[in-house]
Formats: sequence, C-alpha cells, structure tokens
Amino acid sequence: MTTKKFDPASNIQSLKQFGEFGGVNPSITDSSTFTFMTAETMQDTFHGEAEGCFLYARHWNPSNKFLADALAAMEGTESGWVMGSGMAAITTVFLQLCNAGDHIVSSITTYGGTYAFLKNYLPKFNIDVTFVDITDLNAVEKAIRPTTKMVYTETMTNPLLQISDVPALSGITQRHGIQLVVDNTFTPMIFSPFLLGADIVVYSMTKYINGKNDAVAGAICASNQFVLDISDVNDGTAMLLGPALDPLRSSSILKNLHTLHIRMKQHSKNGMHLAERFKEIGLKYNYPGMPDHPQHELMKGMMNEEYGFGGMIAIDMETPERAAALMESMQFKNVGYHAVSLGYFKTLFSNSGKSTSSEVEESVQLEMGMSPGLVRFSVGLDNDIEATFQLIKESLKGF
Ligand SMILES: *Cc1c(COP(=O)(O)O)cnc(C)c1O
Repeated sequence: MTTKKFDPASNIQSLKQFGEFGGVNPSITDSSTFTFMTAETMQDTFHGEAEGCFLYARHWNPSNKFLADALAAMEGTESGWVMGSGMAAITTVFLQLCNAGDHIVSSITTYGGTYAFLKNYLPKFNIDVTFVDITDLNAVEKAIRPTTKMVYTETMTNPLLQISDVPALSGITQRHGIQLVVDNTFTPMIFSPFLLGADIVVYSMTKYINGKNDAVAGAICASNQFVLDISDVNDGTAMLLGPALDPLRSSSILKNLHTLHIRMKQHSKNGMHLAERFKEIGLKYNYPGMPDHPQHELMKGMMNEEYGFGGMIAIDMETPERAAALMESMQFKNVGYHAVSLGYFKTLFSNSGKSTSSEVEESVQLEMGMSPGLVRFSVGLDNDIEATFQLIKESLKGF
C-alpha cells in the first residue's frame, strides 16, 4: 500500500475557485456589507448559523474566504483566517488564548515585533511570558506552569535560523493540555507545522506568500472551532479588534499564492548555492541546508523535501560597522537591496541587530548568540545566482 505524500501546492491546486461569471480568478467582492432577502437569514448569519451567507466584511467576505480556504488547504487545517498584517494574526492568537493571569512559553528568538509584544505589551493584561531556548526541550517543559496556555515558536527562527522540533514540542504541549502555536513565515510549503503536530499556524503573508513586497497581510490556519472563536461577534478577538484584510488585497495575494511553490524552490536553490560558495571562501555563514547547521538532520526529517531548505541565509561580519560597510557595497553593486523584510524576488539584506531584531535588548541578543555583525539575506529569485555571488565576493574585498 502506498500512502500519498502530503503536498501543500497540489492541495491548493485541487481547489476549484472561480468567478461569479466563470472568471478563472474568483470575483473580487468589493462590498463592506451584504443584503438579505429575509430578516430571519440575517439573524441566523449573525449567530454564525447560516452557511455561505456573508454579513459584513470585517467578519467575513467572499474574497477573504477564497484566500483563507486556499491557505487551509496548503496547511491541511480545517479552516483559515486572513488579516491586515502578520502581527495582527500573531497578537489575535495570544489575546484569544490567554486571559489575565495566564502564562506563555516562547522561543527567545522570534521576530522582533513578536518579542516586543510579548515582553512590553502583554504585561498590561497581566499575561506573563517565559522566554526559552526553543532547541532545549527540557527548558521548554520546565518553563510550563499550571497557568501556561501555549508554547510559541517559529519553525525556522528569526534571525538565527534555528529549527524548532515541532513533533517533540507537540508531544510536550499535548501532555500538558496546552496549545502549540507556530509562526511559519520563513518556510511556507517547506514545513507543514500543523501536520507535524502544531495546533495553530500563523503567517506574515507580507513575506514569501505574497512575495511582491506590495502589501502587508497575515493569516491564521487552525481548527473550525478556533476560527469560529476569533470571529465570534460577542467575544472574538479578530471580530472585536478588527484588523480586517481588504478584499482587493486578498484577491491579489491569492493569485500570488498560486506561484509560491515555484518561487520557494528557486529561493531554496539559490540559498543553497550561496551557502556552498560562502563555505568555499571561508565566510562565517549560517544555513540550515548545510550539514554543519546544528539542526540540519532535524530539518531533513521534518521538511517537505522538494521545496528545499529555504531562501534565508546569514553571515557574520562580527561588528555592526563591518556589516554596514558590506551592505553599502552590496547595494552599490546591485546584489540586491539593503532593506528589511524577506521573500522578495530581489535579494534583500539587513543587519538584524540594528533592524528587525532591534526591539531585542543588546544583552539579550548576545545571550541568544546573535552577533552584532549578523547580516541576514533573503535570497532572491536570481536566474544567475553565481553572478550574484561574484558581486558579493567583490563587495567582500578588503575585509
Ligand atoms: C515580518 C514578520 C512578522 C510580522 O509580520 P507583518 O506582516 O509585518 O505584521 C511576524 N513573524 C515573522 C517571522 C516575520 O518575518
């Protein structure tokens, strides 16, 4: 007996989503409110009981539903939900699952905004957070208290590119009856965290999923019940805080989602090429696709192989000054752009300590093993990545 392998891209492609008039793309529903023929149907819709009916676009709208359904297919979850930013998705999950007095265990290496929210914002609600080295499973388990509601991590962490052992973490959270929430922004399609045991998967779609750096958006993939809970008109966090995604945007993101599998393979191919060349010239680099990465074997066991090891790679220039000089030279030579964010078709690079992780105190950066000269690359879709490497090499002259 052969079991068919889970494939995120084929799952998206198996959906039949077409437009009202037979358009090959679903129609864009450019309406904030929806009309009803009977008063009773409107009432039922308010209480979430009228299947297929739409009420008001902050709650649901057809364009957002098409994108949410496609994302749920990609992850293998029952449901999806799309929002105005990745931070909206992440903060919605925290605020939905935790009440005052509750506790969260989080990886210390996360996106800077997530770290800032956990560290600086949640104390307002008397929600306590313990930060741990997520690769130390004993530390994770020890940090769990009776009030702990979830373990939070990124499948591939920002910016250290550690790999979270999702199956092992899931074993811990299940034993304690709590939720495992995973941010899969760096590795869509490469990892399927829900199938590896996560309860809730969150995304910044601003990055790889959209891939064009023309929009900010986020998503949650979870159970039907969780999506009903966050959209509940009486006490749902998404419904009441209201970070709705505009349907014009969600329809453009849906079209970009359909090329994600091709893009991820090219990003990964280029990432691997740069890693191999960096090794050859003796650069201090970090890439999970190389056998010298501490979680390389773990990643091999968890990944959907055909999508590769991803497009994120870091090098260590040791000091912020050296990092700055290299980045300015690379910008000048058109290696790519000196910019934060990732998942773009051009190569982007930034010094994490001074940008996307600047919310993390310098002492904590050092404690977690983040070099002040760390240059994080989001490798682009370059057709001739060897030519790009040669430009990087030229930029490195004199160091
Ligand atoms: C960018 C990013 C976020 C935040 O997403 P926004 O869309 O900018 O709100 C969260 N997590 C990770 C890993 C990110 O890279």
